[in-house]
Amino acid sequence: MTECLAYAVPEAHAPLAPMRLQRRALRADDVQIAIAYCGVCHSDLHYAHNDWKSSAFPLVPGHEIIGHVTAVGSAVSRYKVGDAVAVGCMVDSCQHCKPCAEGQEQLCVTLPTPTYNGKDRVDGERTFGGYAESIVVREKFVLRVPPKLDLKHAAPLLCAGITVWQPLRKYAVKQGTRLAVVGLGGLGHMAVKLARALGAEVTVITTSPNKADDARALGAHHVLLSKEPVAMQAAASSFDIILDTVPTRHDVNPYLMLLARGGTLVLIGALEPLEPIHGALLMINDRSIAGSLMGGLPATQELLEFCAEHQVLPECEMIAMQDINGAFERMQKNDVKYRFVIDMASLAL
Ligand code: NAP
Ligand code: ZN
Repeated sequence: MTECLAYAVPEAHAPLAPMRLQRRALRADDVQIAIAYCGVCHSDLHYAHNDWKSSAFPLVPGHEIIGHVTAVGSAVSRYKVGDAVAVGCMVDSCQHCKPCAEGQEQLCVTLPTPTYNGKDRVDGERTFGGYAESIVVREKFVLRVPPKLDLKHAAPLLCAGITVWQPLRKYAVKQGTRLAVVGLGGLGHMAVKLARALGAEVTVITTSPNKADDARALGAHHVLLSKEPVAMQAAASSFDIILDTVPTRHDVNPYLMLLARGGTLVLIGALEPLEPIHGALLMINDRSIAGSLMGGLPATQELLEFCAEHQVLPECEMIAMQDINGAFERMQKNDVKYRFVIDMASLAL
């Protein structure tokens, strides 16, 4: 066992505070990682508030992890001490089911083991995330950071990035695809950058008029203010794909109306009930509504390579670990441009 420092949520809604964690002794297929950077996802806030009624406290959030290998188990073959590596939202899965065999571990029929607020499949101990000095993860769930990818900016790719990359690839977004992104936050800004890099015609649909210039600077061709009914009406039936990143219960009908013939609204934000959907809006134009959850290990590695190759980097506001409570408050108030990333060098009790 190795002791490490971490920041934990002691109980629902309570501020994060320092805590000491025991990381398990290395199993044969384990990799020990000194964490350099960890992104702050809106899901971390949902878990801290127990929004999904599944949080166990104390809870150490963090599933956008970048670091260096500090030790490896006896059977580890892909990594050695000093390698730059990454860990995302999952640290294990059954490895036997069809989705696992297809590299869609996020869809494991027994559910993947989440990086935090989960239970280790071997010893039943709770999993604790990346707001910490170090972590121990099964080799299979450790990703390689390509040399050309700037470590300081890579962390948000491990959740925000892969969560939008998965539907961008599944729906074959390419040159000419008319794609809209609802919500310009952590997921949304990565969707803009990646869709643009794939050649799509990108529109940001936002509640925040003051983000319009940023949206264009990030690569959007158009900006649509969702609170302006005339503009929304003018954009009716004009998108092939809409990625909806809104983090709370909301009304998707105004977005469904924007889908062109055969278009799909992909929900990737709200993991909760939505306002009722009007059936006619789905029938007209042969529209669909779908969901998408994270992404598998091969797709995540593909994304890291793509971002290194095309220099697609998240917009990171670096913070010290001690600033995390202020960052949570700002995220709650929709004041993030566009991902907080904790610099773990700041971590001290
Ligand atoms: P975020 O950085 O806070 O961004 C969310 C954006 O949604 C905001 O910037 C805002 O954009 C918009 N928004 C916020 N409240 C809204 C409201 N009430 N109505 C309409 N728009 C609103 O959050 P994030 O980190 O991108 O995460 C977004 C959601 O995705 C979270 O719920 C998170 O749990 C979920 N998530 C899902 C997966 C998955 O696998 N599907 C993975 C990771 C995260 P504007 O200011 O532009 O309107
Ligand atoms: Zn996340």
